[in-house]
Order: sequence, then structure tokens, then C-alpha cells
Amino acid sequence: MRNYGTARRVMVTGGAGFLGSHLCERLLERGDDVLCVDNFYTGTKDNVAHLLNHPRFELMRHDVTFPLYVEVDEIYNLACPASPVHYQHDPVQTTKTSVHGAINMLGLAKRLKAKILQASTSEVYGDPQVHPQPEGYWGHVNPIGIRSCYDEGKRCAETLFFDYHRQHKLRIKVARIFNTYGPRMHPNDGRVVSNFIVQALKGEPITVYGEGAQTRSFCYVDDLVGGLIALMDSDDGFTGPVNLGNPGEFTILQLAQKVIELTGSKCTIVRQPLPSDDPMQRKPDLALATKALGWGPRTDLNEGLGKTIGYFAARLPSAAV
Ligand code: NAD
Ligand code: UDP
Ligand code: UDP
Repeated sequence: MRNYGTARRVMVTGGAGFLGSHLCERLLERGDDVLCVDNFYTGTKDNVAHLLNHPRFELMRHDVTFPLYVEVDEIYNLACPASPVHYQHDPVQTTKTSVHGAINMLGLAKRLKAKILQASTSEVYGDPQVHPQPEGYWGHVNPIGIRSCYDEGKRCAETLFFDYHRQHKLRIKVARIFNTYGPRMHPNDGRVVSNFIVQALKGEPITVYGEGAQTRSFCYVDDLVGGLIALMDSDDGFTGPVNLGNPGEFTILQLAQKVIELTGSKCTIVRQPLPSDDPMQRKPDLALATKALGWGPRTDLNEGLGKTIGYFAARLPSAAV
């Protein structure tokens, strides 16, 4: 039965994770009723602890690889470990989360005639041979490497989204998210921005993999969450896929130097082996996001790093710079 409140009922899978927790917060702020679904694989209750007493917030422990019967109007499907260290820890579970998770959430959306958004990734472009990457580029992905559980899982999820759209007329939205960082990344997340900041604040050597000449384009979390909501709210005729990220491109060595400068740390830089299939370059072409959503990032790397450093500095017990 339709509830009698006026609030839109929105489900966020992976809602206790880094991006998900910020998204839940923003949806509550604008008056939505939020159901956060998470199995706490890489997310934590701490990320949403401040929301638990909110009258329009509900937290449910559930693994999306199993069916889920709830009643909602919109679904943001973010459940999936995103850091290479964590998604490679149990690669079979990673593929199951992307593929079985997508099937279950699409089945749920189909029964409810709900709108559903998939948190896809720039990883669908693999180690790209086109630069910057527009949505029309089909990618350069190894199907059998150590990153494949994530990359191919996300690619298959996109396929499922478009087949449910074509076959069952489901209202879908697919966001291809580029490297995003900010407060509430876990200190042991393993991704580059949190690793470097935590290392610098602890005065430990910064671990640059390979020569550090590979590039990434880093988006601040608040900008990204705005993009996800703008996409969900866009006309039903617009499905994406659409790139969301920040086009400012930096080498990993430049990032290391920036973090040292902004923290004022005396730490050194050490080289570690480059993991296999590590993409050499990545930068979003944002023409579609600009045109279709009127969206673009606002926070530059210095500002975003400053806020993220402040977050970690307040939480690390031995922040000895
Ligand atoms: P994260 O690891 O912090 O969050 C993922 C959340 O999903 C965690 O709370 C985790 O516990 C939960 N989860 C994992 N498997 C689950 C399962 N089977 N059932 C229920 N919950 C499960 O990562 P994040 O950076 O917040 O990423 C969120 C989403 O955005 C992911 O789908 C990720 O692939 C996508 N994405 C993120 C980035 C980025 O740079 N942050 C880039 C591209 C795509
Ligand atoms: N599903 C779910 N919640 C629902 C409806 C469906 O978890 O409210 C799951 C269901 O377990 C099924 C999957 O979604 O395995 C796909 O559903 P769909 O109706 O597309 O396929 P079918 O049930 O016909 O296999
Ligand atoms: N990286 C690094 N040191 C670290 C963690 C990551 O040099 O401690 C590099 C990694 O090899 C990659 C880039 O930083 O080239 C981004 O890695 P991340 O795991 O954040 O995300 P990816 O974009 O590779 O999924």
C-alpha cells in the first residue's frame, strides 16, 4: 500500500559506504524518506550513526545478492566494494554483488515500477586508449585480470540495466563515476587519496605505485553526490550512461606532492610495484553531463584535499606531521 506521507521513499544500497552515506544525508536534507541498505562489507555503521535518530531514516542490514522485498519509489544502487584492495579480496563475491545485486534490484524496481540508478564506473573504460573518455567509447578491458571482477561486473550490470529498460520499459539511470574522494573514506580503504593523506598525517612514507606517471582525475564527494541526484531527477527519457567526475587530471606523483605540501608533512615518497592492469590515464569528458544535466564539479583539488585532510586529522589519534 502506498504510504500516506508526502515524502518520496528512496532506497540507497551501499548507503553506509563512503558515497552512500553522503547521498543519504543529502536526500534527507531535501525531505526524502531514506532506506539505507548495506551488508557492512566495506561500509560502517559509524558513517550513518549521525542519521540513526532522524525520523525519515531507516537502516537495514542486507546483502543485495539476495532478493529484497520492500516498497520504495526510487532506488540508488551503490552496493559494491569500490577500492581495488577490497574488491580483489573476494573477487567472486564482487562479481556476485554487481551482477546478482543488479538483477535483484532491477527485479525490485520492475515490481514497483520504481526509477533505478546504477553507480557504474570509469572502470568500464579499462585502460583507455581514447583520452579523455566520452560515453561513446566502449573501453579497453581485460576480461580475465585481477581488476576484471569489478570492471566486468560493472559492465554486466550496465547491460542488465539497459536490457530491463528495453525489455521491461524500466526507468533507468546509469552514472559512470570517476575517482571520487572526501571525508568518510575509511582510513584503511586502500584508495590513493585516503592512503596518501593517512600516510602523510602519520609521518609514514607515501606509497607511490610504479613511477607515479599514471593519471587520475579526482572529484570531491559533494560535487559527485549533486550529480547523482541531478541524474535521478532528470527526464525519464534520459538514461545515460553519463560520466560524472572532475576533469582536472593529475599524475599520482603530483598528487603525492600536493598531499605533502597541504599537510606540511615531512614524510618521504617510496616506490612500490605497479599492480597489473592499472590504467595509465583517466579523465572524464563531461560534455554530456553539462548538456543533459547542467551539472559540473565546483571543488578544485586543493580545496577538496584540504577538507579531506581536516577530516582525517581530526580522527587519527597520532596525527604527527
Ligand atoms: P564503499 O566501499 O565505501 O561503499 C560501498 C558500500 O557497499 C559499502 O557500504 C559496502 O558495505 C556496501 N556493500 C558491498 N557489497 C554489498 C552487498 N553485497 N550488499 C549490500 N551492501 C554491500 O565505496 P564507495 O566509494 O562509496 O562506492 C559506492 C559505489 O560507487 C560503488 O558501487 C562503486 O563501485 C561506485 N563508484 C565509486 C567511485 C569512487 O571513486 N568512490 C568511483 C566509481 C564508482
Ligand atoms: N526480486 C526482488 N525483489 C522484488 C522483486 C524481485 O529481490 O521485489 C528479485 C527476484 O528474486 C528475482 C530478481 O529480482 O530473482 C529478478 O526479478 P525479475 O522479476 O526480473 O525476474 P524473475 O523473477 O522473473 O526471474
Ligand atoms: N596508488 C598508489 N599508491 C597507493 C594507492 C594507489 O600509487 O597507495 C595508485 C594506483 O596504482 C592507481 C592510482 O593510484 O594508479 C589510483 O588508485 P585507486 O586505488 O585510488 O583507484 P583506481 O582508479 O586505480 O581504481
